[in-house]
Amino acid sequence: MKVMYPGTFDPITVGHLDVITRAAGCFDEVIVAIMKNPKKNCTFTESERKEMIEKCIRNYPNVKVVVGEGLTVNYTKKLGCKGLLRGIRAVADYEYELAQATGNMQLDSEIETFFLVAKPEYSFLSSSIAKEVASFNGDISKFIPEEIAKSVIERLTRK
Ligand code: ADP
Repeated sequence: MKVMYPGTFDPITVGHLDVITRAAGCFDEVIVAIMKNPKKNCTFTESERKEMIEKCIRNYPNVKVVVGEGLTVNYTKKLGCKGLLRGIRAVADYEYELAQATGNMQLDSEIETFFLVAKPEYSFLSSSIAKEVASFNGDISKFIPEEIAKSVIERLTRK
């Protein structure tokens, strides 16, 4: 099965990458989709986020990254994916993800949502936390993949 992993990835964290790695071992193909959302005030542009993810998935032959737009279920179908993949960290994610998955089920009953539970060491990790630490020039090696850590620090400490 081919699944789509939608999100903001502003920027990709080691938590996202862990979900991608584990999913790549379970599904035939994983397409990471950076979904355009004009309401979100992102730090990195879509093409910067895409480039950063590409650097992290070089050794994953069955993972691809795209920039998507519109309704998630519509874009999932457009890519020919039967499943949607999301990660769940804590109870707060569960409530939000349950509402999204139920809504998507009503919009398109042919698309199934799959959840991977975050590893305990990543369960409190978000792009926002990583950016906050980076903005103070802190050590982000446990949060951000090493392939992109330098550029994330550079961007966030820029005056
Ligand atoms: P969105 O704005 O769509 O929530 P994010 O980039 O924040 O986009 O997250 C994309 C998906 O990855 C979500 O399902 C989120 O719950 C999951 N996720 C985010 N951080 C982690 C993590 N540390 N471990 C596992 N899953 C995560």
